[in-house]
Order: sequence, then C-alpha cells, then structure tokens
Amino acid sequence: MSLFHPVNLLCPQCEAPVSMSAVGSVNADRRPDLRDDILENRFQDAACPACGESFRLQPQFNYLDAGRGQWIAAMPANRLRDHLELEDEANDLFSTSYGSQAPAAAQEVGKGLTVRLTFGWPAVREKLLLRQLELDDVIVEMMKLHILRSVETAPLAEGIELRLVDVDEETGSYVFAWLETASEKYIEYLNVPSELYVVIHDNPEGWAAIRGRLETGPFVDMQKLYMGEGRHTGDERQAG
Ligand SMILES: [Zn+2]
Repeated sequence: MSLFHPVNLLCPQCEAPVSMSAVGSVNADRRPDLRDDILENRFQDAACPACGESFRLQPQFNYLDAGRGQWIAAMPANRLRDHLELEDEANDLFSTSYGSQAPAAAQEVGKGLTVRLTFGWPAVREKLLLRQLELDDVIVEMMKLHILRSVETAPLAEGIELRLVDVDEETGSYVFAWLETASEKYIEYLNVPSELYVVIHDNPEGWAAIRGRLETGPFVDMQKLYMGEGRHTGDERQAG
C-alpha cells in the first residue's frame, strides 16, 4: 500500500498556507505511476493556490519495488550528515518489515530486496534509474570516484553532488550531472564512456577495498567517504 498524509505548509514565495498530501511510503508494484513520477522529477511537486509558485516537498518515505528488488529509505537532503544514525534506523525498519524480525511471508519478499538509504530527490531517482539500466550502483559510485580523480576541476562541495542522470542514446555513454542536492539545480553535465563501467566491473580485486568502504551500510554513496570518519569496517583499527 502507498500511504499519504496531509501536511500544511507555507508557500516559500508568499507565505500563504498550502495543504498537500505527503507520501510516507510508496509501493511501486501497486502504484507504478509513482515510480514514473520520481523518474520524471515531478513526484511531490506542489503549486501555491495564491501566487502560483511551484515547489517540491523533500522526500521522506519508504520505497518498495518487490518486482525490481528494491527497498529504499528516501530521506530529505538536509539529513545527509546524520547518515550513520539513519542507516541504523533504516536497517531496523527493514528488519521488522522484511528482514529477520518480520513475519515469514514478508521475509520471503525481503530475500529479493536490496536495501538502500538516500538523501534528496536526485539520489533516490538515480537508484531507480540504475536498476532500470541494470547497473550495479556500487560500481557507479566507483565511476564517480574515478571521475573525481580524472578531471582537473570539480564543483565538489557540501550540498553539491554527482549523479548519473541519463544515457546518451547515440553513443551509449552515461550522462552524469553535477547538481545542487536540495534545489535540484543542474550545474554541469559530463558524458562518460560506458567502457569505464566495464573496466571497473572487470577488476573486482583492484576495487575491493573501495567496495568494502561503500558497502558498510545501506547508504551506498561516495559522499560517505568524504564525511567524517564514517563507519569502521571490521579490519580497521578504531581511531581516536
Ligand atoms: Zn504563494
């Protein structure tokens, strides 16, 4: 079931009260239109009835697509710094919904699900797109690390992120975009040959250490490697 609840907010432009339905959970098997809305960047859009200003609620919902094997805790962009705490919350919620603490029938569904945690709309959209393209999201994060090391300048800063947003139909290359997470404003695009994905895919030993650091929890995103100490993997000494 997909669940919505009413929220009252103020228009960011004219401060008129606006009522809308905020989503708490999305079931993409029963509501494929909601998945389409996320992919089309229009889910949870609202318009102010007084001045017409359009704006978008930040994501805060659980996403289930049993058919495609995805379960995502989609969080607002401004919670990024709390990623370790929210990873624990997502793991707990998944555990009682589809994991070891869930009823047997739900556990059957859970076996086929990959658990992820995302912040902001571009990140959750990217996870859906990667599944549609049948790409491993861990490898795509490795591609981003490679891109960062390869380009002379990158607009890397807090609140700015790199996302795979499209495939170039003509060349088959992947289109990445630097964008502002909260506003979804695009800063610049870059085309990356699909061979990079293949090269990383075919060298699992060379990337094993990075994979280990990306897979410490459901927040599979290269940004975690730049934020604080992160979660320690088993073979690392506890620092400080
Ligand atoms: Zn307004």
